[in-house]
Formats: sequence, structure tokens, C-alpha cells
Amino acid sequence: ERDALDSYRQIIPVTRSGQAIEVAANLGSLKEIGPALKAGAMGVGLFRTELLFMERKVLPSEDEQAEIYAELARAFAPYPVIVRTLDIGGDKPVAGIEFPHEENPFLGWRGVRMCLDRPDVFKPQLKALLRAATHGNIKIMVPMVTNADEVLRVKALLAECRAELDAAGIPVGNPDLGIMMETPAAALLAADLAKHAAFFSIGTNDLTQYVMAADRLNPRVADLNRADHPAVLRAIELICDAARQQGIWVGICGEAAARPDLIPIFLRLGVKELSMSPASIPRAKKTVTEIELPGL
Ligand code: PEP
Ligand code: MG
Repeated sequence: ERDALDSYRQIIPVTRSGQAIEVAANLGSLKEIGPALKAGAMGVGLFRTELLFMERKVLPSEDEQAEIYAELARAFAPYPVIVRTLDIGGDKPVAGIEFPHEENPFLGWRGVRMCLDRPDVFKPQLKALLRAATHGNIKIMVPMVTNADEVLRVKALLAECRAELDAAGIPVGNPDLGIMMETPAAALLAADLAKHAAFFSIGTNDLTQYVMAADRLNPRVADLNRADHPAVLRAIELICDAARQQGIWVGICGEAAARPDLIPIFLRLGVKELSMSPASIPRAKKTVTEIELPGL
């Protein structure tokens, strides 16, 4: 079976009805570039930047981040590398960021909320991404979005960063800005959010946890934490419909993206990109080639 899957690693998967689908990797460090390329990753659908910030004495500098993102961009060019801006909260300690104690860290000061409150942390990351975008196909993705105002504020900060780099004579690219769709609010407001984004990527891990009100880490409620629950699929459908109507592409970067039983449902809803752990890529590519989607 493994050998049979090996032959799918380096293909560009196309459905039986002719739709090409991008199967990309979820990564958290540069060490994983080699294995991801070997597995057949068509770019990076989710680069989790948390690891760069955690387990360190000081925050990574703009220069250090620019070098890391540039290396990623070069490794996967011309495929996109979607870098998620810092997504940490009170459940993950980081040197240099003081997190108050919270009763409900998963509902608290995290992701884009924390970043917008801490431009001293956020702007170096945005500047590093603007600089790295001259080395390949970098895209920026914002986590934990609940309304358009957050996206507009990120855009304003990006413009500020661009102006400062321009003034310093430092070359910058023009990366797309996308939204990680992982809160019920974002799903319900998808039609509005789609006007402000170049793409959506659905984070089914958190979307499931928040739609089902079931902690993704608590085994006692694991039965409820199902990405194939009708309520979660309905949220995914809302997001895909909004993307189609606004003419932006939509991908999935939660664990569900790798499930052979769900991939046909996602593609039928209009999903164009699936991002997952590198080890899951060959099987997902094979699954795509077996799907028939007439009329899409
Ligand atoms: C998600 O929430 O689905 C996701 C892919 O991000 P993370 O698992 O890092 O929260
Ligand atoms: Mg998430």
C-alpha cells in the first residue's frame, strides 16, 4: 500500500472531471522543508510561526524572521507559502509577551487580538513578511478573525510597515492577505469578510471546537469534536459559498483536510486547496484523483 501511494507523491492531482487541486503542507519549522518536498507538497498552506517565538529567551528579530520566511519562499517557489501571523495566547508562554491569567484562554487574548494590541511584536513580523515576499510567493494569513474591522486594522498596519520599509530603501513584495476562517463569527460573516480578503483558509480544528463548544484537547468531549458534524459542515458551506460569490479561492488547513472521507465533500463545496501534515499528502492526492465532480 505504501509503495502504491509513493507513486502519487509528485503528481499534480486532478479530479476525474478535470479540476486541479493544490495539496500543500502544514509546517512549523524549516527542518520540515525537506520531508514536505519529498512528500509532494505543492507549497505551504499553513506555516505556524508560533514555534519561532516559543521556547526562546528573546523574540525573533525582524531580520531573523525575514531570513526564515525567505528561505521558505525560495524552497517552494513558484508555489505559495502561506505564513500565518503569530497565533499564541495564554495557554502558550512566550518570552517578551506578558499574558495575564485567563479563565478561558481559548476564548481570550490570542491570535490577531493580541497582535493588534502589540504592534511592537506584530510589525516586525509583518515587515519580515513584506521583505521575504521578494524571494518567492509569500501569502499572509490572519488567525482568529471574528470581524472585518480586525482585517482592516491589519491592512492599515501592513501599509504602515510598507511605508517605513520604502522610506528606508528596503525592497518589499506585495503578498496577498487572506483570512483564516476558524471562528463561528467569521463563518456567519463570511460574505462580508470575503470583500476584504484575497483568500480564505478554513481552520477546521478551531472551527470545530468553537462551533461545537467542545474543547479540542479534552478527550471527554471528543465525540462532539467532529469536523463532519452537520453544524460544522454547514459553517464550511457558508464560507465556501461566500468565497465563490466574491470570486476568491478557499482552502482547508485543519486536520480534516487530510480525511479521504471528507475530501469529496470539500471539493464539491468548491475548495481548491488542501493543506495537511506532509505524511498525509500522497494519500490525499490519490483521493483527489478518484473524485468525480460533474458540473463544477
Ligand atoms: C485550525 O485551527 O484548524 C488550524 C489549522 O490551526 P491550529 O491547529 O494551529 O489552531
Ligand atoms: Mg487554529
